Amino acid sequence: MAISSFHPPRRTLMGPGPSDVHPRILEALGRPTLGHLDPLFIGMMDETKTLLKYAFQTSNELTLPISAPGSAGMEACFVNLVEPGDKVLVCVNGVFGNRMIENVTRCGATAVRVDFPWGAAVEPAAVEEALKANSDVKILAFVHAETSTGALSDAQALCALAKKYNALSIVDAVTSMGGVPLLVDKWQADAVYSGSQKCLSCTPGLSPVTFSDAAVAVIKARKHPVQSWFLDMNLILGYWGEGGKRAYHHTAPVNALYGLHESLVMLQDEGLDNAWQRHAAMHGALAAGLEALGISFVVKAEQRLPQLNSVYIPEGVDDAATRQYLLANYDLEIGAGLGDLAGKVWRIGLMGYSARMENISLLLKALAEAMN
Ligand code: PLP
Repeated sequence: MAISSFHPPRRTLMGPGPSDVHPRILEALGRPTLGHLDPLFIGMMDETKTLLKYAFQTSNELTLPISAPGSAGMEACFVNLVEPGDKVLVCVNGVFGNRMIENVTRCGATAVRVDFPWGAAVEPAAVEEALKANSDVKILAFVHAETSTGALSDAQALCALAKKYNALSIVDAVTSMGGVPLLVDKWQADAVYSGSQKCLSCTPGLSPVTFSDAAVAVIKARKHPVQSWFLDMNLILGYWGEGGKRAYHHTAPVNALYGLHESLVMLQDEGLDNAWQRHAAMHGALAAGLEALGISFVVKAEQRLPQLNSVYIPEGVDDAATRQYLLANYDLEIGAGLGDLAGKVWRIGLMGYSARMENISLLLKALAEAMN
C-alpha cells in the first residue's frame, strides 16, 4: 500500500453546510494541542461558554458545546428531557422535524406530529390547536431554521405557546445561530441546540447547546437514567464545570474547540446585529441576481432564511449536471434538494464566511454559464 496524504482543493462552499471556514479558524485548529485538563485549556473552555452565552443570547449556566455534530446536540436535548411514556408535540416542515420524531420515539415517548407544507414556516395557530387538543404534552419541539427547505419559523411565538400550555420547548437552531436573531432568554426557550458548521463558519463536528433552569430542573428530577451515557448532561457537567469541578468524562476534541473559540471570538468582534444584517444584505443581493436569471424561490419572501436559499431548478435544466459543472469548473458547491424536494430545487447557502459579495458574484456568473 502506498497511499499518500490527502490534499483537498479549496472549494467555495455555498451549500447547506458546511460553509466556508474562515482562514483564522483554520489557523486556530493547527495550534499546539494541550491536555484536555490543562489549566490553560480549562480557561479557554470557560471563555467558550461565555462566548456561547452571547451567541445564544442567554445567561443559562448550562451552556456548552457537545463534542459531536448537530445531530448529537439534537439527541442531547431529547434524551435528557424526554422519558418513556412522555408526550412530545413535534412540528414537521422538513427533514429535521422528521428526525426529531425519530428521537422522540427512540426515547420510548409518544410523538404527536403537526405537519406543515415543505417550504412553509410552522404556523403557530395550528400548533396552538394541537396543544389544546393534547393537554398532557410535556414538550413542544420545532426547527427554527429548516435547512432542508429554507423556511424560517417564528420561534418567539412558538416558545410563548409552549409556556402558555405548560410545556418545555426544544428548538433546533443549527442553521439559525449567527445568521438570524436567536434570543434564547427573551423568547424563554428551554433547550436549544446548534451546529459549528453553518453561520459560525467553523469546521463541522461540534454542537453548542443551552438549557434553561426549568429544563435543568426536569433533567435533575428524572425517574429513569438518561439512556445515553455519552449525552447525559448530569455527567457532562462534571467536565464542563458544575461547581468548579473538572472531572474526566471524555477526551475533548481539543483542537476542534480552538476552532469554535476562534469562530465565536469573530462573532463577538463583528457583533450579532452586524452578522444578522450582513446575512440579510447578502441574501438581498443573491435574490436579485437569481431572479434576473429567471430563477424563483421556494419560500415566500417573509418566511425566507437569508442563509439558506431554496430555489426551483428551471425547466429543462439538469440538476446533477449543473451542480457537477459548478464543482468541476469553479470549485463551487451548491446543495441538492432533500426529501420531498429532491431533484426539484437547489439549496444555496450564504452562511457565515460564505455570506460575502465575492461568493455571490462567482455563483451568479458560474450558474449563468452552466445553464446556457
Ligand atoms: N438540524 C438542522 C436544521 C440541520 O440543518 C442539521 C444539519 O444540516 C442538523 C440538525 C444536523 O446537524 P449535523 O449534520 O451537524 O449532525
